Amino acid sequence: MRSLVEGVEIDGRHWIGGARVGSAESFKSISPIDEQPIADVSAGGEAEVDAAVNAAHKAFQTWRRTSPAERAAYLHKIADLVEARVEQLAVVETRDNGSLLRSHRRGVMPRVAMNFRFFADWLLQLDHPDFDVRGHRNHISYDPSGVAGIITPWNAPLMLGTWRIAPALAAGCTVVYKPPEWAPLTASLLADITAEAGLPAGVFNVVQGLGRNAGAALTRHPKIRRLSFTGSVPTARTIAAAAAPNLVPLSFELGGKSPFIVFADSDFDLAVSTAIGQYDNAGQVCLAGSRILVEESIRAKFQEAFLEKAKNIKQGDPRDEIFDIGPQISRPHFERVAGFVERAKASGLKPLIGGGPNTDLGGLYFRPTLFADPAHDAEILREEVFGPVLCLQSFKDEAQAIAMANDTEYGLAAVVMTGDEKRAERVTREVNAGLVWNNCFFVRDLRQAFGGNGKSGIGREGGTWSFDFYCDVKNAVFAP
Ligand code: NAD
Repeated sequence: MRSLVEGVEIDGRHWIGGARVGSAESFKSISPIDEQPIADVSAGGEAEVDAAVNAAHKAFQTWRRTSPAERAAYLHKIADLVEARVEQLAVVETRDNGSLLRSHRRGVMPRVAMNFRFFADWLLQLDHPDFDVRGHRNHISYDPSGVAGIITPWNAPLMLGTWRIAPALAAGCTVVYKPPEWAPLTASLLADITAEAGLPAGVFNVVQGLGRNAGAALTRHPKIRRLSFTGSVPTARTIAAAAAPNLVPLSFELGGKSPFIVFADSDFDLAVSTAIGQYDNAGQVCLAGSRILVEESIRAKFQEAFLEKAKNIKQGDPRDEIFDIGPQISRPHFERVAGFVERAKASGLKPLIGGGPNTDLGGLYFRPTLFADPAHDAEILREEVFGPVLCLQSFKDEAQAIAMANDTEYGLAAVVMTGDEKRAERVTREVNAGLVWNNCFFVRDLRQAFGGNGKSGIGREGGTWSFDFYCDVKNAVFAP
C-alpha cells in the first residue's frame, strides 16, 4: 500500500513491532487543497491495536531499562533525521492537511525536531535532589509507567503527535500512536524515521484508522498505562469513559473559545495585527482568541482597522507562499463551520466580513468571517467553531473585560493587549486560562507548562510536567 505524495513515497500501512502490517480495510486520505484522494491508508481496529499494544508491552521490558543517555541518543538521532527531511515532511503535511507550506517549512517541522531534542536534553537534567527526613535519605525517581496510547488531531498532526510521543519515549515508555484519519501521512514518515534511527522494534508503533475503531480500541486496552489525547471535548468524554475501568491516567488537551482583550491603552497597530493573526491556519487553532473584546472607547476605530486588514488576507493554495490562509481540513468540517455561520445569520447576526465559502476558490475555502455583538447566549459565542470565524464585542472597563473573558466553560488561552504593566498583571491573575499572552501571541517554548482549565483539558505537559505524567514517580527512603 504505497502512494506517491508530492514525490514522496508513503507506506499507508500500520507500523507494529518494527514491521509494516496491513489491514483488510483501508481508507483514502483526501487532500483539502482540491478534495482529491492522495493516498491509501490501512484502517485498523481491535486486532491491530491489540498487536501494537502487545508489541509495545514486550518492548517496554527492555526500553524501560535503557539509560537516560541511551534514550536521549535515540531521540537526538530522530531529531537529526527529521531535520534532514524537513522539506519532505512539509510538502506531504501541506498536501495532507492544507496548512501553509511556508509555516511547515520554517516553523512546524523544525519544531517537530525540537520536540525530540528538547525532551532528550530535559531527561538528562531531570533531577530531584535527595532530601533528609530524620536522618533518612529520600530519593525521588522518575520510573517509566508502561505503554502510552497517544491520539491527536489533524490541525498540526506531526507537531501535536511528537509533542506527546517525544516525552513519552524519553520517559522510558513505549508508544502506540493513533494519528488523525484526516491527516495520517506524516505519521507514516515518522515510523520510517524511527526505523532509520535504529529505535528497537516495538518501542514506537503506529495504528492508522478511524477514531471510533482504532482510537476506541486503544483507549479501552487493559495494557495501556497512560492515555494522552489532543482533540475535541465530545471525544474526550468518550475516551474518559472508555479508560475509566482500567483507571488509566489521562492527559487531555482540548478545545477553546479564548478571549482576546484589547484595552484602549494598548499599542493599537500591534493589537489589530495580532487580532488578525487569530485567522491563522484558517482558524483551525485550538489557542485562537476567537472572542475579541475591545474597550468601548476605541471600538469603532479598532473595528474599522481590523476590517481593512481582514479584507487583505490572501486565501488560496497553501503550497503557494504568497497566501496567508488555506482551506478547511475536510468536507464534513467545512460543513460544520458553515453550519455555525448559517445558524448565526439565521438568528439575525450580520457578518461584518465573510460569512460564507470563498466562491472564487470553491472547494473547502471558507472566507475569514467576523460577527459583531452576538447575544450573550449565542451559539457562535459559546461553541468552538474551529474555523476562520471570530466574534467582536466591547467592554466598558477592566472588571467587565475580565467578566466577559471568563464567561465561558473553556479555559485554554487568553491574550491581553495593554500598555499598562500593572493592568497586565491584574488581568492575568484574574483570567481563567492555562496560558496568558500579554502583548503577544503564540510565544511558545517547550519548558512552558501547556494545558487548559475547565473544558479545555486535564493536566499540563511541557518540561518536567511531561515526565510527571508519563512516569510513575517513586519516593525511596533509605535508613542511615
Ligand atoms: P476529534 O476529537 O474529533 O479527534 C481527535 C482524534 O481523536 C482523532 O485522531 C480521532 O480519530 C480520535 N477519535 C475520535 N473518536 C474517538 C474515539 N471514540 N476514541 C478514541 N479516539 C477517537 O477532534 P478533531 O476535530 O480532530 O480536532 C479538533 C479539536 O482538537 C478542537 O476541539 C481543537 O481545539 C482541539 N485541539 C486542541 C489542542 C490543544 O493543544 N489543546 C491542539 C489542537 C487541537
